[in-house]
Amino acid sequence: MQGPGRPSSAEVVLPRADGADLRGRTPEWKWQLAHAVRSSRELAEHLDLCDAERAGAERAERDGFPLAITPYYLSLIDRGDPSCPIRRQVVPHVAEREVTRGDLVDPLGEVAHEVAPDLVQRYPDRALVLATDRCAVYCRFCTRSRMVGGAGGTRTLEHLTPAFDWLAAHPEVRDVIVSGGDPLTLTTDRLVAVIARLRRVESVETIRLATRVPVVLPQRITAELLGALAPYHPLWVMTHFNHPKELTPLARQGLERLANAGFPVMNQSVLLRGVNDDAAVLAELFRGLVRCRARPYYLLQADPAKGTGHLRTPIATGVALMEQLWGRLSGIALPKLVVDTPGGFGKVPIGPDYVIARRPGVTRFRTPRGIEVEYFDPAPE
Ligand SMILES: *Cc1c(COP(=O)(O)O)cnc(C)c1O
Ligand code: SF4
Repeated sequence: MQGPGRPSSAEVVLPRADGADLRGRTPEWKWQLAHAVRSSRELAEHLDLCDAERAGAERAERDGFPLAITPYYLSLIDRGDPSCPIRRQVVPHVAEREVTRGDLVDPLGEVAHEVAPDLVQRYPDRALVLATDRCAVYCRFCTRSRMVGGAGGTRTLEHLTPAFDWLAAHPEVRDVIVSGGDPLTLTTDRLVAVIARLRRVESVETIRLATRVPVVLPQRITAELLGALAPYHPLWVMTHFNHPKELTPLARQGLERLANAGFPVMNQSVLLRGVNDDAAVLAELFRGLVRCRARPYYLLQADPAKGTGHLRTPIATGVALMEQLWGRLSGIALPKLVVDTPGGFGKVPIGPDYVIARRPGVTRFRTPRGIEVEYFDPAPE
């Protein structure tokens, strides 16, 4: 196929550092964002939608949580398979209109924990900056659907000034997570301006970029971006791969580039019904991430965001999955299963219980292979 300005396959076109080619074409990632599917009509051109998806997409377009899928991520969807795990993450479903017991508009109580505009603090030593409300794709399970894709757009430095001032006045905060929305949808200049401003707060030691872009728009991981961010290390990248199908050659290359540029990469997966609630799928995902030098960090129980009941699993499912994986998967490939407690009171780890009895000075365990053993405490001093 020879679209406008597209090179023929015989031509060798070297990318520039910013991801544009030598003729100065728009960088591929910007092309992807500009051509994201955002309407039910376009979506129906690409996929055979079932009635529930069509109604979901029309609702998303009208008044629900918006619809956006990059051409790249769309290309990973199995066109004829309504249960495709990529599809379930991004194609709206009419069930989003349903209310499930416990559903909350703001499941993590972020509005209540806002200490300055778009600065959320839920732990004494950490804070979260919401640098934009835009994402490359809108994930149907998003915890922040109340504000993501809304009217605010990217936050200006002026808008974030009270957040920076608050951080400067609270030196106990050493770890700042830049999130959104997706911070990697910002232009490099915009993003660097935010990071540079954060770096001027001396008490901030670690900065984490929380992003789904390596999954849904890996073309964004350009040499230009990495070069611009490198002066601000230590910068950690928190990615969000949920299924092994997402680890395409392009995505693996993005992870490789991040690791080569000195970014520790941690992955946070969300446990989703019909997407990754299967031990073999999770094992393949976690092993694949480790091969790309990305550490599976958390497996998150899905937050009870309004309209996500159809995508969530019972707590017992996650615990059973961890039971299947523990002891069978390398420790570096095994994330912690956590529940971010509704209301915003912090994350708690859950999992199978290997302690079967506690008596004073003696703890009885069962091992992953079902052997029972005792551990004796040392004698009190
Ligand atoms: C999840 C989260 C953090 C970071 O938690 P870690 O367990 O340190 O990864 C910090 N602040 C907020 C508001 C969060 O939601
Ligand atoms: S990328 Fe993150 S913030 Fe954006 S829609 Fe997906 S889960 Fe929500």
